[in-house]
Amino acid sequence: MDSSSSSANLCTEDSKKFCCCGLRAPLKTSKTTTNPGMKFYGCTKYKTKQSCGFFIWLDELLTIQEADRSQRIQDALGLHRDEERQT
Ligand SMILES: [Zn+2]
Repeated sequence: MDSSSSSANLCTEDSKKFCCCGLRAPLKTSKTTTNPGMKFYGCTKYKTKQSCGFFIWLDELLTIQEADRSQRIQDALGLHRDEERQT
């Protein structure tokens, strides 16, 4: 029996596309007055008590992906060689 329960918002690497429920996080549009029209990925069960609480703005995700991509380009080009990262 696996009784471990994670309460982290981002539980896996794939949480960029999948929420902690293991479901695909769909792209939604915010309808709040504070962020009208803002796109975000959220848990499909959000607003329910079963929600894992996964939530990320598209802008935020793009920023992460952009940083990730430039990091990979730098790695590919051999930059940042003095920064040894273990996997
Ligand atoms: Zn979820």
